[in-house]
Amino acid sequence: MKILTLNCGSSSLKFDVIHTTIEKMQRNEDSSLVRGIIEKIGSNEAIVRFKTHHGHDSKVKMPVNDHKEALKKIIEILTGDNPKILSSLEEIAGVGHRVVHGGETFTKSVVIDSAVKEEIVACSDFAPLHNPQNLIGIQVASEFFPHIPHVAVFDTGFHHTMPNYSYIYPLPYNIYQKHRIRRYGFHGSSHRFVSKQAAELLGIPSEKSKLITAHLGNGCSITAIRGGRSVDTSMGHTPLEGLMMGTRCGDIDPALILHIMNKEGLSIAEADAMMNKKSGLLGISQLSNDLREIEDARDKGHEMATLALDIFCYRLKKYISSYMGVLGGADALVFTGGIGENSCIVRELATKDLDFMGIKIDQSKNTMNNGVLGKYERPTDISASDAKVKTLVVPTNEELVIARDTVLCIEKLL
Ligand code: ADP
Repeated sequence: MKILTLNCGSSSLKFDVIHTTIEKMQRNEDSSLVRGIIEKIGSNEAIVRFKTHHGHDSKVKMPVNDHKEALKKIIEILTGDNPKILSSLEEIAGVGHRVVHGGETFTKSVVIDSAVKEEIVACSDFAPLHNPQNLIGIQVASEFFPHIPHVAVFDTGFHHTMPNYSYIYPLPYNIYQKHRIRRYGFHGSSHRFVSKQAAELLGIPSEKSKLITAHLGNGCSITAIRGGRSVDTSMGHTPLEGLMMGTRCGDIDPALILHIMNKEGLSIAEADAMMNKKSGLLGISQLSNDLREIEDARDKGHEMATLALDIFCYRLKKYISSYMGVLGGADALVFTGGIGENSCIVRELATKDLDFMGIKIDQSKNTMNNGVLGKYERPTDISASDAKVKTLVVPTNEELVIARDTVLCIEKLL
């Protein structure tokens, strides 16, 4: 089966075509035929980028007015002759959509029908910036592909196994009862994927494994996974809670928000923007939210870039340590995401002095992987030979999870 996956953002549309079957996914042999992104949708200078499995790489600028036009462009890419990707659109057997928030309703991926759409709309209250965009993707794709199944894969789905003492905030309980305000967690597809890969690498059945997975990209979250089930994760009701991120502050004293709004005369929207868009690596360094730039500046002695990286790694280390406690020890700590897969300095600083709890990396293995293999293909063990807890670097592949779930839903196996 060839599955089109779509990840629809406010001004972007990410796509992938994955060739997979039940047999292929069991053998880890499913692969991407083409993947790409259209960015700056709504402008005359939208950027259309894609790469095929044969290595054809393309990046062009063109006007793309809206998401419908963007998908039309994607279809042109898929059905064009140079490069040849599909013989016809009929080859696409299903469309998998990334949907950020599934609330308490969606604990796993589902085939989309009108009731599902209504429920995704209802969950928009929890993710007002994301779910409406995801719905646009579903709407537009349904127009172009009316006769094949569409499946929603939720970022929150994997975390529904968290126990109530992990997901309930210690606020008055009626706040949860009235508004379903609780911790949900995000990046579920990534944590699920890398934890499964890690268990395979370790040769431990997933049901018996204890893993800590750190997804470190522009957004960052860390999850404690026991027996293949998420038991705690750092993001909460929104993706703002937890680790320090590119532009998000992560955990702060909640009383500070009101205090800063008062001191700085900020509106609710301005306070929200401060915490989500102007904080984190960018807020401290005053330089960039991109870790590569922070690392370069730090190497040149930039004081605030150094501080930004130190806070980032210190907070990550605190979460790693606390999740070791949550799980009562772990088989492995797993790094993934753009930062987790590529930054040896983050991996080094975040695990420094944790050998007393069994976490110890081999510096030569750790640095060897830094950028040399780029987004490397396979899960890799970077732990010291005497480490009780393995440290692994596992490339994530959220699109593959979406495509696999789409097939499983179509086959009614999920
Ligand atoms: P997203 O969350 O948007 O999917 P990614 O997972 O691609 O983002 O991660 C983006 C982050 O990864 C950026 O901070 C970027 O600087 C960082 N990154 C990517 N490559 C490297 C590298 N070679 N070294 C250090 N950081 C890197």
